[in-house]
Amino acid sequence: MSRFVRPELGNLVEYTLAQYECRIKLNQNENPHELPDALKREILDRMAGERWSRYPTFVPARHTELVANFVRWKPEGVLLGNGSNELLQLLFTCVLGPGKGVVLSQPTFTLYKLLAQCLGAAIHEVPMHVPFSFDVGALIDTARRSDASLVVVCSPNNPTGTQMSRADLVEILKATSALVVVDEAYVQFADMSVVELLSTHENLVVLQTFSKAMAAAGLRFGYGLMDPGLARQLNKAKLPYAVNTFTLIAAEVLMRRWNDLRGWIDGIRAERERVWASLNAIEGIEASTSSANFLLFETSGKPPASVFAGLREEGILIRDVSSYPMLERGLRVSIGLPEENDAFLSALRRAL
Ligand code: PMP
Repeated sequence: MSRFVRPELGNLVEYTLAQYECRIKLNQNENPHELPDALKREILDRMAGERWSRYPTFVPARHTELVANFVRWKPEGVLLGNGSNELLQLLFTCVLGPGKGVVLSQPTFTLYKLLAQCLGAAIHEVPMHVPFSFDVGALIDTARRSDASLVVVCSPNNPTGTQMSRADLVEILKATSALVVVDEAYVQFADMSVVELLSTHENLVVLQTFSKAMAAAGLRFGYGLMDPGLARQLNKAKLPYAVNTFTLIAAEVLMRRWNDLRGWIDGIRAERERVWASLNAIEGIEASTSSANFLLFETSGKPPASVFAGLREEGILIRDVSSYPMLERGLRVSIGLPEENDAFLSALRRAL
């Protein structure tokens, strides 16, 4: 049936994730904590009082304002999405197309390349330095030489955990005429965000999500922060009602209660440091430092696929990232609850 679709699509390998049922799930960088029952009940009660037969408001102005206050940016420069994936797609669709170039640091979140391929854009990939840090000079050179329309920086980067410094990002923003997207899906686990640079750099877009630190991956809520003029342009291509009534209510309650929940973050960060040290104490394992809620580690003994399979047999699911560029020996593990992390570490020692 590929004759019905554009050739860019016909030749693509789809973005899939094999689903395995495991007792401990550390493969998608989700928050291991579940929202408290009382909070869920509040959301459900409010939803019960809504008219489900009606569309949500055409422009969710009140929720846009709430997000703007939450992140400290202008409401006119905020777009809400059905997860940040939807906003990535919107942005790519509006900026890229045949003959337009995008610069990606590699290895990174695989969706960027897939979206760019679907659109027939020219993809320029810049390898990271090893051990993993962004090659800022090469990103700038590549963007300039190719006259790229878009530069994508995932920071902290999935799957390496690397965060780009503010100074490096400013250098890129100043050196290129391209739009620069910083995907901050994991930013709450890091020491800083680049949101404050929005007021001085109109070529910056920041994407954030409720899927990781906010423990709401199932609800699909993300937002893009940008110059209001750019938001008006992107809005022209945005689907109406992308965020449903339930999710809007949940997002509102979550933002209001965030101060009571945010203690999670300190716990997850402390566990990240503990698991990192334990991993590096194992012979044949080298784990990268991380500013996110996951760790990338490389095995020098058994191949990653066999370590992955050994863990799975013990009911522990992590992510085999060995097919990513530069990560032939790579595995990624999300930070779970302390007992889950302990189970992972013991099973890993047996699987090696
Ligand atoms: N960006 C990055 C870097 C991610 O790792 C993910 C989730 N895997 C997303 C975006 C997607 O987030 P959302 O659930 O908000 O669509």
